[in-house]
Amino acid sequence: MIDYHVHTSLCNHATGSMEQYVRAAITKGLTTICFLDHLTFQEVGRYNAMFPWEVPMYVNAARRLDRQYRDQISVRVGLEIDFSPAHVDRCREVVNAFDLDVVGSSVHFLDGEDVVTRQSAWGCGERNADEIYAKYLDVMESMLDYDYFDVVCHFDLPKKYSRHPSAFAVDGFLNLLEKIGAKNLAVELNTSGLSYPVREAFPSPPLLDRCAQLRIPVVTGSDAHSPETVGRDFDKARDLLKEAGYRYLTGFSHRQRESVAL
Ligand SMILES: [Zn+2]
Ligand SMILES: [Zn+2]
Repeated sequence: MIDYHVHTSLCNHATGSMEQYVRAAITKGLTTICFLDHLTFQEVGRYNAMFPWEVPMYVNAARRLDRQYRDQISVRVGLEIDFSPAHVDRCREVVNAFDLDVVGSSVHFLDGEDVVTRQSAWGCGERNADEIYAKYLDVMESMLDYDYFDVVCHFDLPKKYSRHPSAFAVDGFLNLLEKIGAKNLAVELNTSGLSYPVREAFPSPPLLDRCAQLRIPVVTGSDAHSPETVGRDFDKARDLLKEAGYRYLTGFSHRQRESVAL
């Protein structure tokens, strides 16, 4: 299996050295690990992400580890970029300036409100679910108008604290998948959801089924913020993918796709 979503301490909310992540992946029998640490240009998330000037050091560290552990595992490197319409030009600049293997894009903030932490109003169980989902779908939809990225990360993230999308929001997600399929982008099967209150991977099994019908490539990611969580619940991920009809996973090298047997 391959883990294309692990963080580093550069984002200020993950623990362990990059080498510890690589060693954990080897212990778990993974064939590829890809760092996909946070980069954001939004004020609200600035301190929970690396700074743009840290990107070269981060890329070099991953390349060094790839050479060092070449006989045991492939080490790749990419970025998880927070989508913000106001900063798309800067995203493009960073993406084009470095030799990255993959670029993921995600939405954690809605009008400056973090919907991912327990401390947020949404995380505390406040706010109207349909309103939050409508906003999230709207931002995701506009993200899909741009082309600086290869993978859509944790597709149905707002359900993290167990507030599932209503039928209206599920329709919205299905529409987004059509657009993702038409744009030939990949979707991430992110297993971190299995450890959150929702106890379900991102995307949900019905949405993953739709990905398979639309032949959308899927890449697996643990979203590990500590070495112990690298490759977490990947046995379940394999089952989910097989049930949806997948026979191959998708990896990335220098932003070119490659197939990996499941
Ligand atoms: Zn994070
Ligand atoms: Zn994320």
